[in-house]
Amino acid sequence: MARNELLAEDPDDRPVEDGGLGDSEADAEADGLLSPVVQIRDRATEAGLRPRTLTDFVGQAELKGHLEVLLGAARNRREPADHLLFAGPPGLGKTTLAHIVANEVDTNLQVTSGPALERAGDLASMLARIETGDVLFIDEIHRLPRPVEEVLYPAMEDFRIDVVIGKGPAANSIRLDLAPFTLVGATTRTGLITGPLRDRFGLVARLDYYTADDLIAIVTRTARILGVEIDSAGAAEIGRRARGTPRIANRLLRQVRDFSEVHRDGRIDREVAGQGLAFFGVDEIGLDKASRAVLEALCGRFGGGPVGLSTLAIAVSEPTETVEDVYEPFLIQQGLLMRTPRGRVATAAAWTHLGLTAPRPDPDVQSGFFD
Ligand code: ADP
Repeated sequence: MARNELLAEDPDDRPVEDGGLGDSEADAEADGLLSPVVQIRDRATEAGLRPRTLTDFVGQAELKGHLEVLLGAARNRREPADHLLFAGPPGLGKTTLAHIVANEVDTNLQVTSGPALERAGDLASMLARIETGDVLFIDEIHRLPRPVEEVLYPAMEDFRIDVVIGKGPAANSIRLDLAPFTLVGATTRTGLITGPLRDRFGLVARLDYYTADDLIAIVTRTARILGVEIDSAGAAEIGRRARGTPRIANRLLRQVRDFSEVHRDGRIDREVAGQGLAFFGVDEIGLDKASRAVLEALCGRFGGGPVGLSTLAIAVSEPTETVEDVYEPFLIQQGLLMRTPRGRVATAAAWTHLGLTAPRPDPDVQSGFFD
């Protein structure tokens, strides 16, 4: 067994109240079935579903290729691998990859998050405990307070930290040598990572939304682990409505399994998957009730916009960050909603999807004048 499996400090053991999530993620936690943000109902099973090796990790072929080379070389040289930064929306596998990195080089994984490291001393004491070759995973690394981030620079570059003891003129700086380690950072907001921090990573990789085939493979793999009988059409139906996100795919599979166990014979095919998803309010293109409410408010109450983000958020009784980070990206990706400088605008496809007739198009928005 790899040493990291024995660790007590697993992200899935984090207290549910905070969960090491950012504020916007914590806010979003109470939300819909299709939220990519980890929810209380995911925690029990997520740890068991995480692929443990690169071979088991579905999709992201280019990133996997890079990691294979990087980790293979580190193993051969018996040195810690370069520092790695994984960027991308929630639920795409950043935490899973951190576990895999530690597992592949057979070392310990220490887990923390940007918001949890409030003071420089919090990080210093964590770094001081690190053993040679360990992997330190910092989730939401863009939320590290600046003084803490500055401790990280020499730690990443030269495996040392400068600890200041005392205050005022009597203050003394002591250099502390650290065991060489690999830092794995994860972020949902690449734009908020400072240049100096970004430059200290050997590999900066962006995780993409998963393809339909990848999602079928993920749903099939999870069904096997959970002991659920599913055919490929059933897996495709669930994958198609999972917003390109493994966490959502796994969550929908569990819901459909429950539906089938109670209302059918426990097996999942295309028909049962469709019925189960409809039962839980996930529509044909993968919108759940909460995402649809955003579109309905935009078209029904504001004539399709333009309407400001905060007004829209109030109309659906959600925090603005939740509307912006959780619902909008998928609506935009699906061509249902546009962000313009004058506000949010519903597209013709949104009106059609809701079965409504669009009013006459706004010529300014149509021409892209305000973009
Ligand atoms: P993130 O840290 O990006 O929010 P996680 O690593 O926690 O996402 O992934 C969420 C869940 O999705 C995990 O429990 C894992 O089971 C599943 N998952 C993510 N990526 C993959 C993948 N490439 N192959 C199989 N399962 C995956």
